[in-house]
Amino acid sequence: MKISFAPPHIDKAVIDEVVDTLQSKWITTGPKVAALENEMQNFTASKAAICVNSWTSGAILMLKWFGIKPGDEVIVPAYTYCATALSVLHCGATPVMVDIEEDFCISPNAIIKAITPKTKAILAVDIAGWPCNYDMLNNIIRDPAIIKQFTPESDKQRILGRILLIADAAHSLGATIDGQPAALKSDVAIYSFHAVKNITTAEGGCICLNLPDRFIIEEERRYLKMYTLNGQSKDAFAKYQGQGWRYDILFQGLKINMPDICAAIGLAQIKQYSEKLLPLRKAIALKYMRAFSTKDWFIAPPLFDFDRESSYHYFPLRIKNVTEQQRDLIIDDITKHGVSVNVHFIPLPLLTYFKCLGYNINNFPMSYLEYSTEISLPIYPQLTDKYTDFIIKAVVDAIDHQFYPNRPKATRRRPVPVLVNAR
Ligand SMILES: *Cc1c(COP(=O)(O)O)cnc(C)c1O
Repeated sequence: MKISFAPPHIDKAVIDEVVDTLQSKWITTGPKVAALENEMQNFTASKAAICVNSWTSGAILMLKWFGIKPGDEVIVPAYTYCATALSVLHCGATPVMVDIEEDFCISPNAIIKAITPKTKAILAVDIAGWPCNYDMLNNIIRDPAIIKQFTPESDKQRILGRILLIADAAHSLGATIDGQPAALKSDVAIYSFHAVKNITTAEGGCICLNLPDRFIIEEERRYLKMYTLNGQSKDAFAKYQGQGWRYDILFQGLKINMPDICAAIGLAQIKQYSEKLLPLRKAIALKYMRAFSTKDWFIAPPLFDFDRESSYHYFPLRIKNVTEQQRDLIIDDITKHGVSVNVHFIPLPLLTYFKCLGYNINNFPMSYLEYSTEISLPIYPQLTDKYTDFIIKAVVDAIDHQFYPNRPKATRRRPVPVLVNAR
């Protein structure tokens, strides 16, 4: 059996929506993007949604929108995908890395220690779909002593008057806090629609705005849409619809708009997301949880507590008392069974480029611990029981083999049946 890690969910609805776009003869930014933005705004209960061509470009856009420039600092976790920190570097600013806590999310206490008068924003990452502790993060950025340190240098910074809280929600579409979309707990939540994410547009992303009412949201939305199209006053679709040929360039924008042909894929998926695709993900996560909970080597991932619930992007299995080398051997063993697993995340200070910039893994012990004991198991709607049973067996065999290499396989695999009331 061959089980891949995160294949996209391409059903007839997706194909029909894409074909519809092709037949309409309008393939770049137009009605499908508008429809996807509408779905995203409703699903996340946000004030506005703007689609872009990736999470990365969405993050660069929002940092530039806020006026982030060389000399500024943006706090990011060391345990994340490179794009989180690269988006800061692309603006010429400095990513200030801090460690995470045991739930994979950025440490609020480490943030407090890292804040300086140069701190302009925090990028908090919802790992595997588990929302960060946004209540604590909101308390930090609204703390009067921290507001007093904040030094606004752009119009948007003056309007906000404090550190901007951005959620790297690349994994967390559908995550909730207090039964509400988690996006409501940050100023800006940015989603990724890359091919492996819960919803995909092949490549793409979406910026959801929940800025305070001091901002005129419709104006910010229109400005950001223009920003994704070179700062052009009139988009191609408006011209196509006969609104005249003349346009103007109002500022130095980026070219990061999402095409309709991509939006069509995500549009067909998001329509099935809350009723079908997300519940299927949850069921798989719960099944893994039940299967491993009897194992003494198992460290349960955060999936839900009293107020938060994950979006079940993947299952971050952690194994007690393994070294990085043992974890790697376990992965080799699982892979031999044809099951693709992954590791989230190689902490940024272990990657060559960030090492060269001077980041040192010794300053991020929890990031290293989580990384070195973690194996990400696949979660996606196409994984029926037949597949998850197979994955669970491959994982349990591989880990038991690592811990109890001398135990004969037969007893491991087939426990002696206990006959109850056999007469
Ligand atoms: C996928 C991912 C990104 C980048 O998304 P793109 O759409 O590929 O730019 C950023 N952050 C995290 C945590 C991710 O997993």
